[in-house]
Amino acid sequence: MATTQRDYYEVLGVARRADEAEIKRAFRGLARDLHPDVSEAPDAQERFREVVEAYEVLSKRETRELYDRFGHAGLRGGGFAPTQFDFGSLNDLFAAFFGDDLFGVGARSPRSRGADLAVQVEIELTEAASGTKRGVPFPVAVTCAACGGSGAAPGTSPVTCGTCGGSGRLQRVSRSAFGEFVRSQTCPACRGAGQQIESPCPDCNGEGRKIEERKLEVEIPPGIHHGQQIRISGEGHAGGGGARAGDVYVEVDVKPDSRFVREGNDIFSTADLTITEAALGATVTVPTLDGDLDLEFSEGTQPGEIRVLRGRGMPVLQGFGRGDHRVLVNVAVPRRLNDEQRRLLEQFARSTDEETYRADEGFFEKLKSAFR
Ligand SMILES: [Zn+2]
Ligand SMILES: [Zn+2]
Repeated sequence: MATTQRDYYEVLGVARRADEAEIKRAFRGLARDLHPDVSEAPDAQERFREVVEAYEVLSKRETRELYDRFGHAGLRGGGFAPTQFDFGSLNDLFAAFFGDDLFGVGARSPRSRGADLAVQVEIELTEAASGTKRGVPFPVAVTCAACGGSGAAPGTSPVTCGTCGGSGRLQRVSRSAFGEFVRSQTCPACRGAGQQIESPCPDCNGEGRKIEERKLEVEIPPGIHHGQQIRISGEGHAGGGGARAGDVYVEVDVKPDSRFVREGNDIFSTADLTITEAALGATVTVPTLDGDLDLEFSEGTQPGEIRVLRGRGMPVLQGFGRGDHRVLVNVAVPRRLNDEQRRLLEQFARSTDEETYRADEGFFEKLKSAFR
C-alpha cells in the first residue's frame, strides 16, 4: 500500500486551520482536474490518489486530529488505511464522498448504473470494540414491477425519441472563419434516454422506479473508527433499464463513552482512590471494554500513576491484536472533616517524618516509563 508522505494540507493546498468547507472545496477542485478520466498529465493518477488520501484524512475529525498531533506515523498507529478504489467513473467517486453528482443530474441514459446512497448508524464504543450487527433502514429506488423499469404503461412500450433519433445526444455544427465546430449535448426531449414514453406506467408515473423502504443487516467489524464508512455493493438505487444498482455507504458514528477516552486503538480511563486506599493499598474495580476488572493497588500508590493493561484497548481494524488500556490513578482528598477526623489526621501528621513520604523512584520517571 503506497502511503504518501507529503503533508496533507500541502497536497490540498489549504491552510492548517482550514475549515471543513474549504477542505471540501479544495478537494472537489483538484479531483475534477486530476481525475485520470479527465487529465492527460502523466502523473495524474498518482496525484489523484494523493489528493483522495489527503481528503479522507482531513475531512474526518478523528483522523484529522490524529494527523495534526502525530503526523503520518499517528495515522498508521491509529489503524488508518487509505481507501483502495478503482478508477470508476468520476461521478461514482463523488457520490461516495458527497452523496451527490458532480456533473449534475439530468443526463440519465436508459442503462445507467444506479446512484449510490449514504446512511448513518450510531453505535456504542463497546460495540465498536466487539464488533456488532445493525439492521439499517433506508429508502431506496427499486425497479417498478408493473412496467419492469421501462416506465411505459403495461401493454405499451417506449418509442424512439423523434428529436435525437434515439442517440440521446444532439450535435450542433456551426461554421465560422476558423472552420467547423461540432458541439454535442444531451437531448433535451428525452433527457439522454433516446426513448420517449407516450403512455406512462400509472404505478411509477413513468419513472420506471419506485421508492421502497429497505432494511439491511450490516456487519460492523471490531475496531471501527468514528466516521468510517462501510460499502455495501449493489444495494443502492436501482439502475435504469436493468443496469447495476448503486452502492450503499454506511457511515458508522461511534458515540463517546463517558468512562473512556479513545486515541487510535488505545483506551484511557481513571481509577479513583481515596487517600486511605492510596496510602494503605486497596482493590479497586475499574471499567474496561471487556467489563469490570478488579485492580490491586499496593500501599503508597501515588496520584498520576498509570497502570497499563496491555492488549485491553480497541481491536486493530482488519488486523491483529488490540491496543492498550491505560488507567490513570486519581487520589481523592477529603473535602469535609468532622472534629474526630480532623483530630486523627492531625495526630497522624505529627507522627510523620521524611521517611513517610520518601519516593523510591521519581514520580516523573514512573510516568515516563508508562509511556515507553
Ligand atoms: Zn412502472
Ligand atoms: Zn432524444
